[in-house]
Amino acid sequence: MSAFNVAKFGGTSVANFEAMSRCAELIENNPNTKLIVSSACSGVTNLLVELANGVQDEKRRQVVIEQLEDIHYAVIDKLADPLATEQAVASLLKSVASAAEAASFQSSDKLTDHMVAYGERMSTHLLTQILKERGVSAVRFNIREIMRTDSAYGKAEPELDTISKLAQEKLVPLCQKHVVVTQGFIGADIEGNTTTFGRGGSDYSAALIAEAVAAEGLEIWTDVPGIYTTDPRIVPKAAPIPEISFSEASEMANFGAKILHPSTLVPALRHGIPVFVGSSKEPEKGGTWIRQEVESSPLFRALALRCNQTMITLRSPNMFQAYGFLAEVFKILAKYKISVDLITTSEVSVSLTLDQTNTSGGAPELPAEAQKELEELCIVEVEQNLCLVALIGNNMSECKGYAKKVFSTLEDYNLRMICYGASPHNLCFLVRSNDSRRAVQDLHRELFELRE
Ligand code: ASP
Ligand code: MG
Repeated sequence: MSAFNVAKFGGTSVANFEAMSRCAELIENNPNTKLIVSSACSGVTNLLVELANGVQDEKRRQVVIEQLEDIHYAVIDKLADPLATEQAVASLLKSVASAAEAASFQSSDKLTDHMVAYGERMSTHLLTQILKERGVSAVRFNIREIMRTDSAYGKAEPELDTISKLAQEKLVPLCQKHVVVTQGFIGADIEGNTTTFGRGGSDYSAALIAEAVAAEGLEIWTDVPGIYTTDPRIVPKAAPIPEISFSEASEMANFGAKILHPSTLVPALRHGIPVFVGSSKEPEKGGTWIRQEVESSPLFRALALRCNQTMITLRSPNMFQAYGFLAEVFKILAKYKISVDLITTSEVSVSLTLDQTNTSGGAPELPAEAQKELEELCIVEVEQNLCLVALIGNNMSECKGYAKKVFSTLEDYNLRMICYGASPHNLCFLVRSNDSRRAVQDLHRELFELRE
């Protein structure tokens, strides 16, 4: 059988009956699309997270369960033949209610993964039935049968060889006969416990699945018509990018362009699978192709903004012509599993930013014990209310003169931690949160709107 496409639909793409019907239309219009990976209906994962965190108040729990019912029953009510789907969803919701009660006594990462997985388990019932009612030979597949991960709940790592073996055995033959609908975001460890890849992880799931079935292409359908030169909510003149390389797109995802989960491109890149990003609401607007080889590689491709940065500056006169200081610093950071993002150094100080690892989205905190240990070594200063601006492009480290343009545009801003030259694909720096949107607007105007 010739290779087929995998299409992933995000939460807003499967938010309700109409949205799901638009997905169905996209699936019907491309006979190559044989495997569908779906997120939970929009808003559902948030509600499940609330329950999983442990809601003591029984009334509040009930309210949340009713909200979950409303979202799913609004779709079921529009089905021509709702019975089987209704029964399936009702039984899953019953399990959610009892798990929510258990979580109100004691929550855990394991229970949380078990609970949040119900979102994708429910949405795939709905989408499968909608496809069937439109005459598509659709079947629902439980992805946990093949998506083997370790047991790191909330941030599971896939076991690639097992996934690929199981996918070839169980999933590929099914795709030869049917359009298969399955769940993003979730997997299972060797004992069969449900795991997840973390919030927004269904893009990553879709890429892992595309890799495992050796797909020809991966379509990511979301609520924006592809990747733009910057966030159009910040800069209305931001322009769509029809084609972009894996390296540029990875930089964008890493630097906070919220289009793709940052890990998504890793499996696609490993297997050279082209990725398309588009809006299921407005497919006629086109989208962005992410490929290994692209026709043009402009010096400036895009601007990304990531807020809630925590910057730590470590100062020590002992650093002067000494060795081993940075090794000591990193030993302490490693001990507390603190992941460093950017780093700049001078003779007597080093500044670094912390990676965003918490699910709350707030600025990462330096754990108090880590700070204490660092303070035995040097003076520690922690600053927040900072945003990271990243300019993404090509051959930037080799091109003369452009830095002047960037910095003269930003001469009125207080720029911190400028990282330039380490990657040919980016230049980045921190600015105060209050200045960040304006800095992006000014740079976009200078570098993207005025260019001939
Ligand atoms: N439903 C999950 C979330 O909201 C996964 C995803 O949509 O990618 O985080
Ligand atoms: Mg999502």
